[in-house]
Amino acid sequence: MRTIFDYRKRNGTGGILPELDVPAKKTTDLIPQDLIRQDKPRIPNLSEPEVVRHYTALSKLNYGVDDGLYPLGSCTMKYNPKVNEDVAHLPGFASIHPAVDPELAQGSLSVVHKMSRLLCGITGMADVTLQPAAGAHGEITGMFLLKRYFEARGETQRTRILLPDSAHGTNPASAATAGFSVTEIRSGADGLVDLNALSGELDETVAGVMLTVPNTLGIFEENIMKITAMVHATGGLCYFDGANLNAFLGHARPGDMGADVFHFNLHKTMSAPHGGGGPGSGPVAVSEALVPFLPVPRVRLDRGRYYLDWEKGQSIGSMHSFYGNFGVFLKAYTYILTLGDEGLYEAGENAVLNANYLQERLKKTYRLPYDRLCKHEFVLTGKGIADGISTLDIAKRLIDYGFHPPTIYFPLIVHEALMIEPTETESRETLDRFAEALEKIASEAQENPDLLHNAPHTAPVRRLDQTRAARNPILTYPFGD
Ligand SMILES: *Cc1c(COP(=O)(O)O)cnc(C)c1O
Repeated sequence: MRTIFDYRKRNGTGGILPELDVPAKKTTDLIPQDLIRQDKPRIPNLSEPEVVRHYTALSKLNYGVDDGLYPLGSCTMKYNPKVNEDVAHLPGFASIHPAVDPELAQGSLSVVHKMSRLLCGITGMADVTLQPAAGAHGEITGMFLLKRYFEARGETQRTRILLPDSAHGTNPASAATAGFSVTEIRSGADGLVDLNALSGELDETVAGVMLTVPNTLGIFEENIMKITAMVHATGGLCYFDGANLNAFLGHARPGDMGADVFHFNLHKTMSAPHGGGGPGSGPVAVSEALVPFLPVPRVRLDRGRYYLDWEKGQSIGSMHSFYGNFGVFLKAYTYILTLGDEGLYEAGENAVLNANYLQERLKKTYRLPYDRLCKHEFVLTGKGIADGISTLDIAKRLIDYGFHPPTIYFPLIVHEALMIEPTETESRETLDRFAEALEKIASEAQENPDLLHNAPHTAPVRRLDQTRAARNPILTYPFGD
């Protein structure tokens, strides 16, 4: 039976529009003939309700931070306050064209400028670029800055980057992509950089060290001042991967610890949504010596007017069109202003408190290879829970309890790793429910291992071949056309 919603039968498209009351102009009139396609695209011809139901059904298959705890270690899946979205959607910000004359974009440019100053304040560093679109993009920007710095000094023999084995996985990739070779520095039994191993590698071929702070075990390098002093003494620079700034937000500043480059993940620390939720932003803060090399254009303020400074000088060039992912740093800017100094301090404090609360409870059931006060996250191992049970089984069973699993099999220095980061936005009740679920799973592993082997039992899909799922996604509309 036809319904009034069956628009496609009426005009051949999914939508319905009133009769034109102006002369019709076909888009094809405006496009050069040789650029017009000859055959119709093969896309489904559907009515509005079919399209709405399709996307609503898809959205229900997903699990997001608005559904519940998302303790994905290293990813800082904190709740994203909705006021951030309201600000990012203000028409004055959302509708402005990026190519508009800067004179007409004074409000937006002032946000870029003020945000840079806020991030300088938070890090204690000299200047910031907001261009990088993600953490790893910030890393490669930082690596280019180091490269250009040493070129300018005529020290082109500095071709090595030293990287602890507890660093984030993107670090070695970024260093290598920028043309450096990577030397791994091992960690000691305490999970900290082995200072002897570090000093054994430091010489005039080293451009710098790349430290994940805190490291991927959730442990802060206690010897950070010694490390940066050692690197500086041999003429190298210190890159800090600050994606996990949540661990010391408002408590300590990388600039005071000797960082020369520090990248943020605004989509982690400053609550902008990420993963499936949207694009990222990975601003890079630098010490005085690296300011001349920052990407152009720079947003500057002169006698009350903001303008774009394209003067290239020694700059590495542009890392992103326009100023970066403007909408993302608008959300982060809103978050910072909403919380203020004290709020940011509390966010950092509670992130650490929540992680330690869970660590202390869960280490009674699961092994904790590096047993010490943690920062924003900690790493358990699924080893030893029961014969024939892997960390993957435990993670999949958590889905049946309504929780997103933590990061697993990373960092590599812990076998069968379960990397848990609760963030500060979770209540004690939620943390208790999560701990209870993991404790129950540990008993199930003993009593009924197949329950874990076959998990998840409640999810629409069970165990995917993740590599193939990412490489060969099935994107066809299920109804055919
Ligand atoms: C998330 C993360 C990155 C990478 O950030 P992206 O935005 O995913 O590129 C780098 N380092 C650490 C420590 C991280 O947690």
